[in-house]
Amino acid sequence: MPHALRILILGGTTEARHLAEALAGESDVAPVLSLAGRTLAPQFPPIAFRIGGFGGIDGLIAYLRDAKTDLVIDATHPFAEQMSAHAEAACRATRIRLVLFSRPPWQAVEGDRWTEVESASAAAQALGEDPRQVFLTVGRQQLAAFEAAPAHDYLIRSIDPPQPRPRLPNHRLILARGPFSFDDEVDLMRREKIDVLVSKNSGGEATYAKIAAARSLGLPMVMMQPPHRADVPSFYDLESILAFIRARAHHAPPVPRGV
Ligand code: NAP
Repeated sequence: MPHALRILILGGTTEARHLAEALAGESDVAPVLSLAGRTLAPQFPPIAFRIGGFGGIDGLIAYLRDAKTDLVIDATHPFAEQMSAHAEAACRATRIRLVLFSRPPWQAVEGDRWTEVESASAAAQALGEDPRQVFLTVGRQQLAAFEAAPAHDYLIRSIDPPQPRPRLPNHRLILARGPFSFDDEVDLMRREKIDVLVSKNSGGEATYAKIAAARSLGLPMVMMQPPHRADVPSFYDLESILAFIRARAHHAPPVPRGV
């Protein structure tokens, strides 16, 4: 009898939760969902789960060996770069298969005026020298990069208050969690006389209204693109990752591997 395919799902996203729900009850897989532990009241998944960091790359390697993991699915947020980098390094070291399961990034459509950049510091630079009213929606971890562009007036929106507060001479803070409606986003950008929107290209529907609102107002956007993960096979929809998992579960080795 082949053993159940032992899968570690790195989560913290809607995609990871949907995958966990789809795998619950499948007999030839043994999935564990890992959450960072940032959310105070997380929604508990219908499969085995663990909460909290692994303790860096070495900690993750130890976990994978201990759990005899067969497959790691990185379903973290596209900008959870440290966890993704750790997963790549640990899977390389242990020779465990790593795949990515993510939402696809947004694509510019007609009417969008995007400047695509690779990092927060490139985004700050792309704002230019002349003072502008900037709507900054990149999450609190990326704010420090904009200290290099202090000429602008920033309206910062984040879920939790930034710690430390960014050292920007002109800024105001709105604390809010999506989803946001198109009409509210249009109203906000009009009321605040926004000249330019800065966003991460996170994909998904919950925060897309700001993109559509900027388009309808003819506003330019600076769009931070997600990091390239050329070496990691990527799945962008639930059906295709499930097909991949089921094919591997079917071929799982008959004897548990000592890694
Ligand atoms: P990060 O910077 O990539 O990771 C920081 C550290 O948090 C990692 O080194 C790891 O600690 C721990 N960690 C992150 N994800 C983990 C997971 N799924 N399971 C166990 N440990 C995890 O991540 P982040 O940007 O702070 O995001 C934290 C979590 O929130 C992630 O699960 C991510 O999917 C979710 N999230 C992030 C964003 C975003 O914009 N970045 C948005 C929505 C949701 P150790 O080194 O100790 O292992």
